[in-house]
Amino acid sequence: GKPRVVVVGGGAGGATAARYIAKDSKGAIDVTLIEPTRMYYTCFFSNLYLGGVKEIDDLGHSYGGLAAGGVNVVHDWAVAVDRDAKTVSLAGGGSVPYDKLILSPGIDFVEGAVEGWDLSAQNAMPHAYKGGSQTELLKAQLAAMPEGGTFAMVAPPNPYRCPPGPYERVSMVAHYLKANNPTAKIIVADPKPKFSKMALFQEGWGEHYDGMIDWIGEDFGGGEVSVDPNAMTVTIDGEVTKVDVCNVIPAMKAGRIAELAGVTDGNWAPVNAADMSTKADADVYVLGDASSQGDMPKSGFSANSQAKVCANAVRGALTGSKVFPAKFSNTCWSLIDTNDGVKVGATYEATDEKIAKVDGFISATGESAELRKATYEESEGWYAGITADMFG
Ligand code: FAD
Repeated sequence: GKPRVVVVGGGAGGATAARYIAKDSKGAIDVTLIEPTRMYYTCFFSNLYLGGVKEIDDLGHSYGGLAAGGVNVVHDWAVAVDRDAKTVSLAGGGSVPYDKLILSPGIDFVEGAVEGWDLSAQNAMPHAYKGGSQTELLKAQLAAMPEGGTFAMVAPPNPYRCPPGPYERVSMVAHYLKANNPTAKIIVADPKPKFSKMALFQEGWGEHYDGMIDWIGEDFGGGEVSVDPNAMTVTIDGEVTKVDVCNVIPAMKAGRIAELAGVTDGNWAPVNAADMSTKADADVYVLGDASSQGDMPKSGFSANSQAKVCANAVRGALTGSKVFPAKFSNTCWSLIDTNDGVKVGATYEATDEKIAKVDGFISATGESAELRKATYEESEGWYAGITADMFG
């Protein structure tokens, strides 16, 4: 019969890989995508939803286009991988055989990473670092803050999904509060001494949200943090603060199925840069956030870029089609205030050891309002482009 590819996880990496393999092989490969949710809510632009710039419906995408494009979409959880038998077991029962398996399950949280917090506390103190209901919950809590209240964030240690994500979120929360609750405060406890696009964010925070944001980095005890979800308190370097909203973003690791498949080493799955195959098994590939690949940040743009390289390589391995040398790119845009967009990005190539950065760029401080607006508009074009690339 036809060669079989199974893709686990229909996000930035998995949806792209499934779509490209089905499209480019023109029916020569059987592609099955396993994804539990019927609607994928992007994390990208979810901060803009918090800020009131986007609606929740702008973030949701269904899998109908993939099905129409020839992908067999199975709405279920993958619960185990048998690498000897080459099968994936589903929560709903049964198993799916594969010749090549692509895992793009995103992230899970490291247990015990933030003292006082675990998954049972995610309603009192949302992470909003997986898309959909968590993002809506955080937005509802933001809107319900009392006048002059306090919004706290516990930022994650490296490496984690979307390096500028927490700081874009702080910006968008401040944007919302400035309009709706201008005497409110934001405190950020951060275990890192510095963060992505820091100079750009800090310039913007001073310009647009003067005095509202108190960022407490590692040097000031930001890593010495615990929370009490019942009392709604945050303790930073021994000082207890009563807060109204607490966004806890814990340390991350590869989505659990990567660990169950036995392809992780520590928190992430090491892969070969040329095709995203795992170091543990040449027939199992890991894309996106779950992979440990080298220099690329964990982003939707990166996952999509890696997926295209992987799709080309998997198709080549199964059908003998031409395989092109691996090239990757990434750009991460962030919105600081209305029409004040900034970006950081790079191109990459595959070396024997890793995905290696070739060339990069970053927005400058002090840029004109016109340039910042153009940068934001570019990000809107990117969002439309990547979601079409993922879902057809
Ligand atoms: P995901 O897109 O998370 O997809 C994983 C999928 O796997 C999910 O749909 C999940 O349901 C499924 N899954 C998990 N386990 C299983 C299982 N056992 N069985 C079946 N399915 C499973 N990136 C950008 O490029 N630009 C941005 O502006 C940007 N902004 C962001 C802002 C925020 C607030 C956050 C949190 C992230 C942002 N990102 C951004 C990062 C981006 O969302 C991720 O890097 C990207 O989604 C990673 O793709 P992925 O395929 O690895 O995982």
